[in-house]
Amino acid sequence: DVDVPESHPRYESLLTRHRIEAGVDMGITSRQGLIAQGRGEAYDYLLGEETIDSADRAERAAAAYLLSAEHAVISVNGNAAALVPGELVELSEVTGADLEVNLFNRTEERIERIAEYLKQHGAEAVRGLTADGRIPGLDHERAKVDADGIGDADVVLVPLEDGDRAEALGEMGKTELVVDLNPLSRSAQVATVPIVDNIIRAIPAITEHARELHEDRDAQRTAIDSFDASTALTDAEAAIRGGA
Ligand code: ATP
Ligand code: MG
Repeated sequence: DVDVPESHPRYESLLTRHRIEAGVDMGITSRQGLIAQGRGEAYDYLLGEETIDSADRAERAAAAYLLSAEHAVISVNGNAAALVPGELVELSEVTGADLEVNLFNRTEERIERIAEYLKQHGAEAVRGLTADGRIPGLDHERAKVDADGIGDADVVLVPLEDGDRAEALGEMGKTELVVDLNPLSRSAQVATVPIVDNIIRAIPAITEHARELHEDRDAQRTAIDSFDASTALTDAEAAIRGGA
């Protein structure tokens, strides 16, 4: 379906763009999702479209948090579902985290489509349809979560999350792992672990670290304790500005 030669110098970026377009066509990605993708691409271009060292350390810390959580949830929006559906399912299997569809522009139809799409990619259970919990401080539609999903979670992985919601989740005392290519974005700024990397690279990298850390409590501790969020953000900004 995608007619881009692999030899193209920006093959991955074009493939990513096609997946988002297809997501819109399938009714799982919102039109605002196209704009978010454009913003992300610009930062990725400046990062050299690669995982910088500090992002790799953030991915390792994120894996450790997911493994040592009481109840970890991976929040899935329309962009994440379009870009890495199978990879999200795999991460949830390796870490034991739940998958929950959680949309900024929420419609029941889009939630159902995304849940179905994740199931087609191997997910057994997908949360987000009950929506009987609320995030305090947000207006009604934006606040909806599953009470026994994100509502109950101590650790939440939120790729490409809106700044207001990221802040509100943080105020609920949750450990937030945020994937966002813009280190200046509020979502990245409020995260316990800001992962400044393309979700396309970040999710498989977290899964790989989780496989390695799985049985090793001490290594999980070390990955968490040695990670510093503000250093990671400074490193990412320096890389973007060409100073690293
Ligand atoms: P604010 O400063 O209020 O947080 P924003 O720039 O975050 O605004 P949004 O469009 O709501 O605006 O957020 C989308 C975010 O997701 C952007 O920061 C963008 O860089 C990031 N993003 C988009 N695509 C990807 C991707 N494929 N991987 C990682 N991050 C992405
Ligand atoms: Mg943001």
